[in-house]
Parts: sequence; C-alpha cells; structure tokens
Amino acid sequence: MKNVAVIGAGTMGNGIAHTFAQNGFKVQLIDINEASLKRGLDTISKNLDRMVSKEAITEAQKQETLSNISTFTDISEGVEYAGLVVEAATENIDLKLKIFKQLDQACPEDTILATNTSSISITQIAAVTSRPEMVIGMHFMNPVPIMKLVEIIRGYNTSDDVTKTIMELSKQLGKVPVEVNDYPGFVANRILMPMLNESIETLYNGVAGVSEIDTVMKLGMAHPMGPLQLADFIGLDVCLSILNVMYEGFKNPKYAPCPLLVNMVRAGKLGVKSGEGFYDYSESRKAEKVSKQFA
Ligand code: NAD
Repeated sequence: MKNVAVIGAGTMGNGIAHTFAQNGFKVQLIDINEASLKRGLDTISKNLDRMVSKEAITEAQKQETLSNISTFTDISEGVEYAGLVVEAATENIDLKLKIFKQLDQACPEDTILATNTSSISITQIAAVTSRPEMVIGMHFMNPVPIMKLVEIIRGYNTSDDVTKTIMELSKQLGKVPVEVNDYPGFVANRILMPMLNESIETLYNGVAGVSEIDTVMKLGMAHPMGPLQLADFIGLDVCLSILNVMYEGFKNPKYAPCPLLVNMVRAGKLGVKSGEGFYDYSESRKAEKVSKQFA
C-alpha cells in the first residue's frame, strides 16, 4: 500500500497527509476547491519548516515530503490508485455518508476506506457502502504529526484482516494504534468529553472561576492544559456536538451538555477559532500562545 488518498485538507487532513508523505507514501490530497488545498499545503510547508529549524528533519527530507503530495478537487480522480482512503472532511453525518457512497463507487474493489471522525458511528458510515468489512475508523489526534495515538475503531462488520492492516500501517507511521469498538465517543471522547462538561458544570454552578478550575487540573492532576482552555482549543461547538452524539447514543443524562456550553455555542463563543470562549483570544498573540503549547 503506497498510495493513500486523504479527503479534506483542513486541520486534520493536512496533518494526516503530512504524516503519510513524511513516511514515504504517495499522498493524493483532495478538497472541494483550490483555495482549501493551498491553505492545507501552506500549513504542511510551515510545519515542515519548523521541523527543519529544530533539526528534526533535513531540508532535503522536507522537499521529498512535499514532492510526495499531489492535490485534487475531484474525488474520483484522486482515489483512482489508492490502497487506502482516509476521510477527514467536515464533521457532518450527511456529508460523510455522501462521501462514502462516492468513494465506494470510485475506489478499486480492494481499497480500505477509513474515517477520522471524532464521533460519528463507523457502522453507520460503513452501511452505505458495498464493502462494510473494509470500512474502519482511524482517529488521529491533533496535531497529527506530533501526537502518537491513533484510535483504531472497528465497525460492527470491520474484518480482522482490515483491522490488522490498519494497526500495522499506523505503526509504520511511528504511531501507537489502540483498537477499540464502535460505540458513541469511542474511548478518547467518551472519557474526555464528560470531564470537560463537568468542568463547565463546575463553573456554571459557581463553585470556582475559569482560571481556578484550570489551575486545579493543571497543578493537581498534572494536565498540560486546563479543561476549559482545552475545550476552547478543541472548539466549543465540536465539544457540544460530540456530547450530543453520546447523549443521543446512550440515552443517558450523564452525557447531557451543560446549559452554559449550549448557550455559549448559541452566542457564537466557540473558543480559539472565534476569538472568545472561556478565555479571550482577541489579541492574536494570546491565540498564538495557546496553539504553541501544542506545536
Ligand atoms: P476542518 O474544518 O479544519 O477541515 C475540513 C475540510 O474538509 C475543509 O477543508 C473542507 O473544505 C473539506 N471538505 C468539506 N467537504 C468536502 C468534500 N465533499 N470533499 C472534500 N473535502 C471536503 O475540520 P477538521 O478539524 O480537520 O476535522 C476533520 C475531521 O476530523 C472531522 O471528522 C473531525 O471530527 C475529525 N477530528 C478533528 C479533530 C480536531 O482536533 N480538529 C481531532 C480528531 C478528529
């Protein structure tokens, strides 16, 4: 498997393309327009520059990585020779179902179809294809080139062979794959999101302020970032949508999103990306400081 198509050149897609390309794979990066592809490639180039300046890779390795990536706006063209497709398009169930129907038609019969979804059911996505045994979750963490974990999610029908291939492939990328089953939130978000939600509930109940809650978790639990700051970084809309998937999926009130989170999303306070969440990121310097903790 030398050809990997990546759908979506956003935050995760460009990181996934970067990681495969740096490990010698030919990557076909696909997005809906040239502007999104250019933004994705610029980000990859900047991230590679940072690695060169830290002497983690050489200038020649940077150029080789970039030369491994080609770009497409047409899914059918981009996936023609792919042994694996990793879908990292916007988190929207209707969009993902549409993309997987398209992929099923356009890809060779033996192409494995993976999704980087944070919360959508792999089994549901697989059900719209004629190859549910070849559909799997490959949940990379942000920022992809740095973070070691890949949550490998087996859908109800995912075969042992496909799971084994994707586990091995993840190791070839220098990652640590962990196999989990397909239930709402998988493992990472099932544990993380209730903690973030409880931190918001603690604030909502007036038990402590934003910086007090974050300080308790940073200094008391050795978390590199407080939960409210982490929620801002992930995006409060993303946190809300993952909690809703778990709430709907389990029909258990323990996953009910805190009313304060719901209100902040309604008010457009989405965290770093909107300039304000639990913290104020209106000065670009502050936002940069937050991102750097993850660089
Ligand atoms: P993003 O908004 O940064 O990027 C999404 C990209 O998909 C955009 O460039 C968009 O133009 C493109 N796109 C939309 N429709 C498309 C189509 N039909 N064909 C091709 N490209 C299309 O989103 P993101 O944060 O990179 O998230 C992508 C996926 O990764 C989501 O499923 C998300 O849940 C998951 N994820 C995100 C994170 C995170 O921290 N951001 C972490 C883990 C998983």
